[in-house]
Formats: sequence, C-alpha cells, structure tokens
Amino acid sequence: MNKVVVIGGGPAGMMAAGKAASLGNEVVIIEKNEKLGKKLFITGKGRCNFTNDCDIEELFDNVITNKKFLYSAFYSFSNMDTIAFFNQLGLKEKVERGGRVFPASDKSSDVIKAMEKYLAQNNVEIMLNTKVKDIIISDKKASGVILQNNVEIKADKIILATGGLTYPQTGSTGDGFDFAQKTGHKVKSPRGALIPLVSDDGFIKELQGLSLRNIKATLFESDKKKTEMFGEMIFTHFGLSGPVILSMSSFMKENKKYRIEIDLKPALDMQTLDKRLQRDFDKYSNKQFKNSLDDLLPQRLIPIVVEMSKIKEDKRVNQVSKEERQKLAEVLKGFSVNIKSKADIHLGIITSGGVEAREIDPSTMESKKISGLYFAGEIIDVDAMTGGFNLQIAFSTGYLAGLLESRGDKN
Ligand SMILES: Cc1cc2nc3c(=O)[nH]c(=O)nc-3n(C[C@H](O)[C@H](O)[C@H](O)COP(=O)(O)OP(=O)(O)OC[C@H]3O[C@@H](n4cnc5c(N)ncnc54)[C@H](O)[C@@H]3O)c2cc1C
Repeated sequence: MNKVVVIGGGPAGMMAAGKAASLGNEVVIIEKNEKLGKKLFITGKGRCNFTNDCDIEELFDNVITNKKFLYSAFYSFSNMDTIAFFNQLGLKEKVERGGRVFPASDKSSDVIKAMEKYLAQNNVEIMLNTKVKDIIISDKKASGVILQNNVEIKADKIILATGGLTYPQTGSTGDGFDFAQKTGHKVKSPRGALIPLVSDDGFIKELQGLSLRNIKATLFESDKKKTEMFGEMIFTHFGLSGPVILSMSSFMKENKKYRIEIDLKPALDMQTLDKRLQRDFDKYSNKQFKNSLDDLLPQRLIPIVVEMSKIKEDKRVNQVSKEERQKLAEVLKGFSVNIKSKADIHLGIITSGGVEAREIDPSTMESKKISGLYFAGEIIDVDAMTGGFNLQIAFSTGYLAGLLESRGDKN
C-alpha cells in the first residue's frame, strides 16, 4: 500500500484519487479552495459537458496539442468509460448537438456530487482550504509535500493535478507549473486557448452584448482563408466571443494578422439574398434606406451595416441602385472584423502549454525524471476543442495516473 498525495481537487485530481484509493492505497486529496471542483462547477455554462459521445478516432481528431501522447489514456479510459463511470455513480446523461454529453439534470453540481461519492466510497481523505507550497523530492523520488503552514506530509507517490492558468478565481493559478519546473521539468509557455478575441474596430463597443445565432464565420490569416465554422457568437466590450469564436481561436498563431468575416445570412446564396433584398426593398420602397432593414437584421447591427454598405442612410429605397444592393449583399455575407489579439490568458477556457508531454511516460503519466511523481489533467501540455473533450482528457489522464503504475515496476 502506498501513501498517495493528490494535489488539486478538480476533475483530474478527483478521478486520480478515487482510482488510486480503489486499488487499496491510502490517498489524500489536497485542495486549496473551500470545496472540490470549483472550475468543474462553471463548465458548460453550469451544465457541464463532461464528455463527447463520438467514436474513438473523433476523440483524437478533436485534440489540438499532443494527441499521440493521449493514446494510452484514451484507450485505458475512453469517453464510453466516462459515461459508464457516472452511470454507476447514479448520474444519468443526455446527448446533445455535436455529441456533447451533459448530466440529464443539466446541473454540473450533480457531476461534482457523483465524484464526491466516488471519493467517499473509496475512503479518500479530503483536505480543503489547504494549499500545497512545495513538493519534496529525495534522490530523484517523490517523497512528500509542504503545505502553506509549513506542515510536511510524507508520500510515496504524488499526483500533480493543479490545472492550468485560466479562470484563476477557480484556483487554477499555475502552482503546479512551478512545482514541475523545480523538479527539472520543462514547462511550455502557457497560453490561453478556446479564448475570446480582441478587436479595435470602432463598432465593437456599439454591439456589446449582441449575440448572433446561425452565422458562418471565416477566419483569414493575412487574407488567406484558414477555416470556417457555423454556430453562435457574441460581441463583447472588447471584441468577439461565443462558441464559434472560441473554437476559431485554436487556429490562430501568435504574431499573425487575422480577420474574421461573418456571414450573417449563410442559408442564402448571393442570388437568393438579392431576391430577398428586392422583396424587402419593394415593401419599404418609399422609406429611407436606413429604415428598410428591420426584417433582415437585429436593430443594433443596422447602422453599422448601413455605413459599411456606403449607401447614404437617408436615400429613398426606390433610389438604391442594383450595384448598391449588390454591395449591401456583400456586407451581409462578409461582415468583416479585424482581430488585434487573443484576450488575456485568464479568459481562456483552457490553457495550452504546460508540462512538456515528452517528459511524461504516456502509458503511466509518471514523470520520466522523478519516480513516483505523476501528472493528470490540464497541467500537461495537451488541449482539445470544445465539446467535452477537455474534461475527457482530465478523466482519462486522471484514471491512468491513479493506477500508479511505474516504469520502474516493469523493469
Ligand atoms: C468557463 C469554462 C467552461 C468550461 N466548460 C467545459 C466543458 O463544458 N467541457 C469540457 O470538457 N471542458 C470545459 N472546460 C475546461 C475544463 O474545466 C478543464 O479542462 C478542467 O477543469 C481541467 O481539469 P483539472 O482537474 O486538470 O484542473 P482544474 O479543474 O483547474 O483543477 C485544479 C485544482 O487544483 C487546485 N490547486 C491548484 N494549485 C493548488 C495548490 N497549490 N494546492 C492545492 N490545490 C491546488 C485548484 O484550486 C483546482 O481546484 C471549461 C473551462 C472553463 C474555464
């Protein structure tokens, strides 16, 4: 029986702790917050999209960074295992668009309760309001942790599951990166991923809070098309956010120039849109141009689209030329927003970067440098798209770390 200390009570740490304890080890989970799973609570807008109901290839396809590293983790504990795991703990699931799996109750708190039940069933000791200050390594072997109050806790194995650097108010403040660095691990510079975008375009502030459904967004890198996506987005006080934008941010590199074109009418091709405009213009033929777009656009977009179209706002609709109508259609199909940068790292849904994957044994999650030191979850340099894939990474890597297998054991 090993004495195991798990640092971090997020999904990865809870999974690792429960698994390790289920194998007969003496396990304590140390969490600096007053409760477990503070970030888990806010996932999926409080509904927690805890995995995805896709096949295993798709699971890999949705990983952005270091997918090969996750091979053993996903095969040892797959998305189907996650669903079965929660079912056994009494949590029913439902599947939504894009295979997103949520608790049937729509409550992330039920996912946390299920995990707490798992910890209780396996007699995991839980220390809340307790911050780990450092980890102790003796002869290249994990041997304990030091708490904020300088109390030392001895350990045969340590599992680092401290998360990344985003949404720091949930406890993810990058402490684990410092611990890892001190033990000789390389940490790839953390960046925010699945992150809102900043734009200096003058109209952004006027559109703050406006959300658009069923749009198509196309990302251009220095005028070269990179990717396009359908779905929802929202204008914020500093730029753009919402599901489509967060996903798109994963295709953007640092120090490149980007622009996003929003197709406000993706269901209509140019010809059909022109017919639609002609119908509206017939209906409002005696009105001023600025008053002719009410059936087509949300009110707050109208003055901006009018300006972009370069048609005089007070022009009579029946005076608008075919060329002007054509220009208006182009604006509606390609509402262009210049992107200045990604938002501050703290606003990212996940952290890209972290402890270098090549320094961790992918079949055990044990450090290749320090025996008895394991990693699980977002602390590792792995990240994925939205859709439940990031929590699946936390569960799969947590499960594997909890097995506490060691290369040393195999040799
Ligand atoms: C707004 C938002 C919505 C999201 N929605 C989804 C979603 O629907 N689906 C999905 O798949 N992913 C989602 N994610 C991503 C997902 O939440 C993370 O990938 C996941 O929480 C990572 O789990 P983790 O256990 O590795 O880290 P965390 O959840 O960050 O947990 C780490 C824990 O370690 C503790 N800790 C840190 N340092 C110390 C220390 N020194 N001592 C003691 N304790 C410490 C922290 O307090 C924290 O509780 C979302 C993220 C955000 C921010």
